[in-house]
Amino acid sequence: MLPPDGHVHSQFSWDARNVGAMRETCARAVALGLPSVAFTEHVDLTPFRAGFLVDEHGEFVVDGILRAPLPDADAYRESLDRCRAEFADLVVLSGREVGQPHPHAAELAALEPVDRVVGSLHCLWDGEAYAEPWLLTESRPAPDVFRDYLAEVCRMTTADFDTFAHIDYPVRSWPGEFDPADFEEELRTALRALASTQRCLEYNTRLPLHPTVLRWWVQEGGERLTFGSDAHHPGAVGHGLAEAGALARSVGFVPDRRQQDPWVRA
Ligand SMILES: [Zn+2]
Ligand SMILES: [Zn+2]
Repeated sequence: MLPPDGHVHSQFSWDARNVGAMRETCARAVALGLPSVAFTEHVDLTPFRAGFLVDEHGEFVVDGILRAPLPDADAYRESLDRCRAEFADLVVLSGREVGQPHPHAAELAALEPVDRVVGSLHCLWDGEAYAEPWLLTESRPAPDVFRDYLAEVCRMTTADFDTFAHIDYPVRSWPGEFDPADFEEELRTALRALASTQRCLEYNTRLPLHPTVLRWWVQEGGERLTFGSDAHHPGAVGHGLAEAGALARSVGFVPDRRQQDPWVRA
């Protein structure tokens, strides 16, 4: 059995509005034999420097700063209800992916409850504005940016979220080969901060999580693991989850009683 896909976007996410499709994503998930999908649509409340995103999402950009619109809550709910009715064998979870949740506690608390809240860091402060990690590395060494990112993960644990997404996010754009051993102390500190606050770690398959980081998650007390394709279109749902599940089993994670739940330590 494939792991549940706990991190998927549809047309209700600002950056998937032209390519996402909830119904087709569910149909694809059923065809693949996935037990569950969670539609964790983007809630990015922090305006950030957009760089190349200006081309694709220029309507949300003023003076180089992108202000991401929130999902249409009513249309999202209706779409979820329709999918749950049509795909009875698939567990369809509601959710959101909150970027930089810690400065936005009051606004986030006012949102409708969902099944899954995935917490992310998509940007860091550059002295003048928030910016994506790969924009910061234009003026600073990537290792310095990654260390800042991991320090921010620790500060983020004051916020309300279940799962920390893509701990290797800045590594999606990395000069040369990434070796987690170069950041062992900082990675272990971030993993410990997440484990000690009872968070799940996410195995995000956009960039397969380095097996060493997964082992450190166990050693630092991590008890639960989720999986996420981070699909922004139907063709990407479930991507890499078979391999991710096999690696998770190799370090002692197994499915919990309900097929949609995070995996737990055996
Ligand atoms: Zn993300
Ligand atoms: Zn995402």
